[in-house]
Amino acid sequence: MAIKRIGILTSGGDAPGMNAAIRAVTRTAIYNGFEVRGIMRGYRGLVTGEIKEFTSSSVSNIIQQGGTILKTARCQEFTTPEGRKQAYENMKAAGIDALVVIGGDGSLTGAETFAREFDVPIVGLPGTIDNDLGGTDSTIGYDTALNTIMEAVDKLRDTASSHERLFFVEVMGRNAGFLALNSAIASGAEAAIIPEIETEVDQLAELISTGFRKSKNSAIVLVAESPKTGGAMGLAERVKKEFPEYDARVTILGHIQRGGSPTAVDRNLASRMGAAAVEALMEGQRNVMIGIKNGELVYVPIRKALSHEKTINRKGLDLVKILSI
Ligand code: ADP
Repeated sequence: MAIKRIGILTSGGDAPGMNAAIRAVTRTAIYNGFEVRGIMRGYRGLVTGEIKEFTSSSVSNIIQQGGTILKTARCQEFTTPEGRKQAYENMKAAGIDALVVIGGDGSLTGAETFAREFDVPIVGLPGTIDNDLGGTDSTIGYDTALNTIMEAVDKLRDTASSHERLFFVEVMGRNAGFLALNSAIASGAEAAIIPEIETEVDQLAELISTGFRKSKNSAIVLVAESPKTGGAMGLAERVKKEFPEYDARVTILGHIQRGGSPTAVDRNLASRMGAAAVEALMEGQRNVMIGIKNGELVYVPIRKALSHEKTINRKGLDLVKILSI
């Protein structure tokens, strides 16, 4: 069946650049003769039927805004077959033939299931600051979050060096250390403690044993928020008990990392990916995510994007150590 009307939604955690993606999908779709509907609050809007007509001016003046004009939510009903059936019925009632879903791994898991169950053409866009989706070098929002963390660490560095302290800075990343590792490199931190190598070495003991104090009087350690790392609080507790000679402090950046105007890198990525999502639907692609590999846009089966096959580059960890001697 030919696609006439495309629905767009943003789901799960918000990420800077989602608006740029919404704009690109909307305008590319209209340019190519499609009608567009904006679905509010992620899958919740499909389940409740909160669907709006989108014109070119619906997405005016949003490329520079963080967050998402479509709002986002977590929707428990959509994880049940009954909820998804309701969503399908509302989608059909609104005349929507295909969906573009912008979100992280939870949202794309839902998209994959929905596409299979109801034979709906769906294209996903990787919208998450965590960069934890497979088949793509980067995700929409990741670069902005890296910059936000880097700026925060630059400020902490002033007080860390004045007080000669050990600072643990906790960043997001669920089970992925991309944010922690790459913001550590960008901010010249002394170490990154990430979930991927939890079982291999005691990263804290290693850090202390290298005696960072020999050449430095302060240290900043980027810690990925994860039970596997113990988080910044867990590490500070350990320092208190096991290495009481150090004065450890904790900063948890939290949701600050999700906000802000997207960087040029994220706006360009979101614009290119948004346009590519519409082109993918025109080519008859379904159940794929748009990814970027070595600068080129690629189609990644959503299943593959969710496989957690993307691994952290261990050389990056070595680099943090080498550059902070
Ligand atoms: P993110 O997309 O940022 O990873 P979540 O993990 O919270 O965010 O997922 C967002 C939404 O996607 C959930 O609230 C739910 O509606 C939907 N979702 C997540 N996992 C599934 C699943 N296994 N089946 C169906 N829908 C899901």
